[in-house]
Amino acid sequence: MGGTTAAAISAPVAREELVVADVVGIGHEGEGVGRVNGFTLFIRGALPGERVRARVTGLKKQYGFAELLEVLEPSPDRVEPPCPVYDECGGCQLQHLGYEAQLRLKRQLVADNMERIGKLRVAAGTQTGEGEAEGVIVHPTIGMPDPWRYRNKVQVPIGEQEGGLAFGFYATGSHRIVDSEQCLIRSETADELVSLIKQMAAEAGIPAYDAEKRQNGLRHVIIKTGFHTGETMVVLVTDNARLPGAEQLAKRIAEAVPGVKSICHNVNDGPPGTVMGPRTSVLWGSDRIYDTIGDVRFAISANSFYQVNPVQTEALYGKALEYAGLTGGETVIDAYCGVGTISLFLAQRAKRVYGVELVPEAIEDARRNAELNGIANATFEAGPAETVIPRWREEGIRADVIVVDPPRKGCDATLLETIVAMRPQRVVYVSCNPSTLARDLRVLEDGGFRTVEVQPVDMFPWTGHVECCVLLVRTK
Ligand code: SAH
Repeated sequence: MGGTTAAAISAPVAREELVVADVVGIGHEGEGVGRVNGFTLFIRGALPGERVRARVTGLKKQYGFAELLEVLEPSPDRVEPPCPVYDECGGCQLQHLGYEAQLRLKRQLVADNMERIGKLRVAAGTQTGEGEAEGVIVHPTIGMPDPWRYRNKVQVPIGEQEGGLAFGFYATGSHRIVDSEQCLIRSETADELVSLIKQMAAEAGIPAYDAEKRQNGLRHVIIKTGFHTGETMVVLVTDNARLPGAEQLAKRIAEAVPGVKSICHNVNDGPPGTVMGPRTSVLWGSDRIYDTIGDVRFAISANSFYQVNPVQTEALYGKALEYAGLTGGETVIDAYCGVGTISLFLAQRAKRVYGVELVPEAIEDARRNAELNGIANATFEAGPAETVIPRWREEGIRADVIVVDPPRKGCDATLLETIVAMRPQRVVYVSCNPSTLARDLRVLEDGGFRTVEVQPVDMFPWTGHVECCVLLVRTK
């Protein structure tokens, strides 16, 4: 336990100590980064530029955590959070920060990671520069004209509280359910359906699942809406196959809310924290709904993945398309392709697209989506990108453009080596995590690519997340 002792000695603060901290930045979960005598404390709810009073709640070797008690000098960008359950719910982290300031802060977060982890020089200002000497351009974050009610999918956990069912959200960092029938980042249809299903389930005497009491019942309600088509799907998730009066309930829900095209029943007997199990049946209507991104049509089923913010997805993939610089003759590889969203978007302007993705069901969806759109020049394969792409290379496949869109942990090292060895003209890197992005850009830079520009896109307003699209070109 040498580390703990060292922390206790080296940290200038102690657990439970009341401190005054100057907040200098923002962490990747939207928490304020405070400084006390040069020591870093993460303080949820505090904003850059503020001086706050806080209680130290935990200490690690290099940093600690503290609970915000009082804002002594508020930031001019601080606003009153509009959501009534903001303090309890774990869904949003930045509702206390005005939207314009949030966009500026997200850009800054990206630029800081580029410099600190990527060891890249970020160009001063945000104008398009003349090239190498200017450094990497980090553009202003693309925000939403209306940053509310943007989510097309919600997963509502269900529990019991005194007096009936609780439909709501998990409290920050726990599985305790905060009961709330409204959420400002999901659609009004979703709010309406949540209230209705809660009331109908109560009337029908359907209980909530309770693992401790060994009580069977409802675990989650999932609502998905195609924002362009207005089609809605409801999935009722229970812990076992029995859901008495299910068809009746489904029919009543469908009749009450226009746009509902599909009501499904999913059985999840998995551990807490899992949402859906593998078995889904249709209770009413179709087994799928449809939506479009740009000109491409997508089928959405109960288990399939689909981007949750359709407006910003279009902005992000529009950038990916622009950065790919396609003229019609290129071969493109799309690594981590999911259900083929980017692949199909690019296939319309390329000669050939190869998509690879770990999850076989997603690849089946990708192939089906290609067929649905009559796109014949996209080929999909299931498997790890870091083994499939080296094999493609051995088979003689050459790529002009390689697109990657990895999960939070970033690209596999073998994949980065393969990209360097394949020498495409361009790499388009789509990332949901600026720190692993910066780490991977360093590897690509050392392998003969230059990072030209970075476009942050606000996919999840009011949360600490920021998505980026990056253009790299080959230099030698
Ligand atoms: N580009 C997709 C979404 C990408 S999300 C879209 O636009 O819809 C990241 C994806 O990477 C997930 O679908 C995940 O299943 C997949 N993934 C994770 N590890 C992988 C690996 N080693 N090789 C290939 N795909 C992987």
